Parts: sequence; structure tokens; C-alpha cells
Amino acid sequence: MTDVNDARQLRRHLNLPPARNIVWLGLILTLAVVPITGCGGDTVPPAGLSLLLVTLDTTRADVLGCYGGGEGETPNLDRLAGEGVRFERCTACTPMTAPSHATILTGTWPMVHKVRANGTGKLPDSATTVAEILLAQGFATRAVVASFVVKRMFGLAQGFEVYDERMPLSAPRRPALERPANLVAEAAISNLRDVAGSPFFMWVHFYDAHHPYVSTTGNGPDSREAYMEEIELVDRQLGRILAVLDGLGITDTTAVVVVGDHGEGLGDHGEFDHGFFLYETTQHVPLIFKVPGWTPAGGVVSTRVRTVDLAPTLLEITGVTPPEIMEGKSLVTMLAHPESGADRVAYSEAWQAHDAFGMAPLRGLHDGAWKLVDAPDPVLFDLAADPGETEDVASAHPDRVADMQHTLHQLLDVGGSDAAGERLDITDETAAALDALGYTAVEGDGFMGMNDENPLHHKEAIEAYAQATRVMTTDPERAKQLLAEVVLANPEAPGPFFRQMRLHMTKRADDGRIGFCREVITARPESKLPRLHLAQLLVRDGQIDEGIGELELLLVHAPQYAAGHLELGKVLLGVGDTEGARGHLEAARRLAPRDVAVLIAFARLDAAAGDLNSAVAILEAALEIEPDSMAVRNELALARRTLVESP
Ligand SMILES: [Zn+2]
Repeated sequence: MTDVNDARQLRRHLNLPPARNIVWLGLILTLAVVPITGCGGDTVPPAGLSLLLVTLDTTRADVLGCYGGGEGETPNLDRLAGEGVRFERCTACTPMTAPSHATILTGTWPMVHKVRANGTGKLPDSATTVAEILLAQGFATRAVVASFVVKRMFGLAQGFEVYDERMPLSAPRRPALERPANLVAEAAISNLRDVAGSPFFMWVHFYDAHHPYVSTTGNGPDSREAYMEEIELVDRQLGRILAVLDGLGITDTTAVVVVGDHGEGLGDHGEFDHGFFLYETTQHVPLIFKVPGWTPAGGVVSTRVRTVDLAPTLLEITGVTPPEIMEGKSLVTMLAHPESGADRVAYSEAWQAHDAFGMAPLRGLHDGAWKLVDAPDPVLFDLAADPGETEDVASAHPDRVADMQHTLHQLLDVGGSDAAGERLDITDETAAALDALGYTAVEGDGFMGMNDENPLHHKEAIEAYAQATRVMTTDPERAKQLLAEVVLANPEAPGPFFRQMRLHMTKRADDGRIGFCREVITARPESKLPRLHLAQLLVRDGQIDEGIGELELLLVHAPQYAAGHLELGKVLLGVGDTEGARGHLEAARRLAPRDVAVLIAFARLDAAAGDLNSAVAILEAALEIEPDSMAVRNELALARRTLVESP
């Protein structure tokens, strides 16, 4: 991760050419003397621009007014499209939030940045983001994000001097896992006021359109109408931000870029939300650029582009040559001349069926009007004749399928291995957060038997699982019922299995939990979470030695398992074995240095050993990592009080 102090070093490391932006004042003068035609003739954008990147989570292109949608009002997005250039066909690289944003911010495919899922993947520090490059060029860099799944711990904060990820502590139906649009806009506006006097790059993320949809007019919580209300809400709040650009007098020096990270199924093709499949409902996203004094008003680009093209475009708009590692290609020429340019081949992928069910991952390739969805049994659509993807024409075009598979494999060869990159160890707290947001946090190493099934042949089971996931917190009985059916039909699928166990875990009075864990362990002895949970239950039940035995066994199988070391450290501390506890907590801290649960346990250990100053210092460090954590705040208050009161 780039520290502000490393900016110059990074710039040298990336071998970046001198930017026009460095002398901001000079540029304002330049702007003043260069005549601005606004007709888009120049291929080079005006110098001295700041950048406002707005990502609209879960936003289907076809529901927006400017994309022909008539279901709701999106006047601000429509106006922006009218003043700038709208890309008619932009393809997202994946239907998942964190991986999609990793591509937007790095200009690389998922094969390269390696973020394959929400909650378990982390953008490696070695990745280079637009923010890092622009920071090195002297830009103020700020981000305001709205969801747990893009929090700093997942690596997307690289290069941002300020990464504002504050979530409301609690609000009806938004349990601190997302931030509503009005608060996002307020934070964005406050940051804009701070940086208005210098060149800046600001990323603003709106998450409201993500399920659960909140209706203020009585629409059903799962209805298309409620989804549209959320889209309208985001549009209004975006309007507030754009008005502040005007108020600050920086509309003419700020390029505004709006893009969706992925769409939403809304029931089309048997998919309610997003993540498992690659239909256009989730892959076709809005993309609008307004570069003042340059992009032609009302321009429309009809050729296909990709979200991977965003990062190099953002850099070129500010006069920076994109580094070679970026695989996307700048859209600058198309922005100046919307009718120019040829369709770009677009790659996409969906891993959720793989992660949750052990099925084959889906890979998509758009080439002209053809769209291949590759899996053991590939599917081909002709989007020109069949934009709704109703007819698989693979059997009629075997040569086309083979050609596109070849292209796909070449892309994958260049991109490197399919292996997930840096994986975060998932704490119970994180897993619960992901559950509530509808994502799979599967700790499935012992479960990962690839069955090579095509997820498209298992839509019903997948949708039942997705539905169970959505109602886990609001209707656990319904979730249990749905999962029981899915597990019965797919006994090897790790996602449903783990979710079912989590449901057993949430009922503290349920005596069946220990038995349930033992059943899972008998079936899958190498699995980690069941044994971890079994040990927790045994300890809570007073069977301390048995619990310790299970944890020791767990760590024999999985010596790098931070959650196992943390748990054993805590148990040993509880029985007064501070030396044993220290060994395991040190191991946990080595494996998960920024995990606040580990830091809290460490602080308790030091406090128990009488070193209250150290405990306070550790908790202060934890608070910097997770400023919203009530657990850290409470623990810190207690430690400070004890320190004051101790003789
Ligand atoms: Zn998303």
C-alpha cells in the first residue's frame, strides 16, 4: 500500500512521464488561454483536470432513463449523459462488487489482480491503482465508500490519502454494513470542499441499489419497484454532489465518470440478484463520461467497451501515460470521437457457483455480437438477433464456439493462473457481515471437490441457495428449510452446508449444534470451520480439555489457520496458561496482523500480565484499523480506566 511519503518513490518506480498536472496554478492559466471548443475535435483532453469517479453498485444499464429505461426517474444521470458521452455497451468483468472494483481501479483483469470474491479476497499490496499513480502525480486522493465488502481490509484503499469507509453504527435494516446514499453524498461533499483548491481524484461509491431494497412508498421489499426507488435515491444524491461542484466553481475543471460495477437479475433468467451467472442483466452496466471543455455533448459510443478500460482512461484524461501492467485500453479517442473505434473483446467471469457449490466457474467472452459463456457445456448467444439471451445457438456454430474458446484460453494464459490470490482468514464477525449482505464466506478447503458441473444446469438449486442467503437474518426458519432441500440435493456443496451450520450456531439454546458439527467433521475430517466451531461449543459448555484437544488437532491439520490460533490463545488465556496463550496469539498476529479480534486478545493478554500501557497501545492501533469497532472502543475504555485506577 502506498504511503503518502512514498509517492515520489512510486513515481520513479513506475517510470511515469512528467505530468501536466504538477503545477496546478500554471494549468489554470493554460486553461484560461486555450480556447475551449466543446465540440470534441481534439484527441487530447484539456490539461489540469480533476477526476470524480462515481461507481453505482448493482445498477443495470437498462433501467436508467438515458439507457431507455422508463420505470423510474434518473434526471441527474440523464442530464450528465446529455452533457457528456454515454457508452451504450459497457461490459463489467464480473458480477461481484470487490472484484469488479479491483478491475475498475487497477485496469487489470481478475486473473491478474486475483480478487475473485467478496470478503475472502484482497487486492495485493503489489497491485497498482489509479489512486496510487495520481497520488504520485501530486493529486489529492479521496474515497468515500458505502459497503462492508469494499472496506480497507480488502485492499482497495491503496493510494487514497483519505479512505472514508464509515458506516452508520445502526439504522433500521442497515446494520452498519452499508452506508445510505444521503450519508455518502454528505461525506463526498465534505471531502470535495477539502480538496477543491488542488487537483484531486475522488472515488464515490453508492451501494443502495444492492439488496435489500428499501421502499419508502410501500413497495414490496423484493420488488422491482423498490429496486427502482433505490436507483432514484442514488440519482438524487448524485445530483447533490454535482450541484456542489457547481457551487465550488470546479465543474469546468472536474471530469465526471459514472460506471456500474455490475447489474441485477431482478428475476430475469431465473436470477434474483447477481453473482452466479453472466447474463447481460448483471454484465451490462452504465458508463458515462463528462470531461468539461472536451467531450461532445450527447455523444453516444455504440461499440463495446469494458470496465477494465476505465483506469487507463482516467489516467490519460489527466495526461498520465498508463503503465504497461494495465490491460485495459484507454477510451480517450472514443470520447473525442464517439463514432470512432471498434468493438473490444470483453472477458467476464463468475466464481460464486464454484465457491458455494464446487461447480465449474463461468467465463464469458463478448466478441462482436457473439457472446460465449464457457463451462463444460458452453452456451453461445447472438446478441444482435437475440439481445434477451433466450436461445443458445452453440450447437449451430461449433466453429465459432471453438474460436472463442481459443481466444478465451489465450487471455487466461496471458493472465496467469486461476488461483485466488491473497486470502483473508474469515472471522465470525466478517462471516456474519457477509451473510447479511448475501455473500458466501466459505471456508471450504476441505470441501473443494470440483464437480465440473455447469451452473447453468443447476439454476433452481442455486437460486434456492441465493434466496436462503438473502433471508438468513430476516427469516432464519425459511432459510433453514431452503438450505435443507439444497443440501439434500447437493450434499457436497460447501456453501449450503456451511450456511446451515451457521443457522445452527445462531441458536444458542440448540443442543443439536455439537452433534451437527461432529456429523460434518465425520463426513469431512479435514475441514476447519466445523472443528473450530465444535471447539468453541465444547469450551462454552465447560468441556475445556476436550475443546483444547479439538483446537490442537485442528492446528495439526491447518498450522496456518489464524482463527484456530486465535481461538486456542483465547482459551488458554482463560485457563491461566499465559505462556501457551502468547505463543498462539503471536502466531495469529503473524498470520493476520490487521485483525482487530487478534489485537483485542493480545491486549487482554498483556493486561492480564500487568502491562496495561502495552494493552492500551495495542488497542489504539486496533482503533486506527477499525475506527467503527465498538468492541475495540469498549475494550480501550476499560483498559484506560484500569490504567488510571491502578496504583
Ligand atoms: Zn456490487
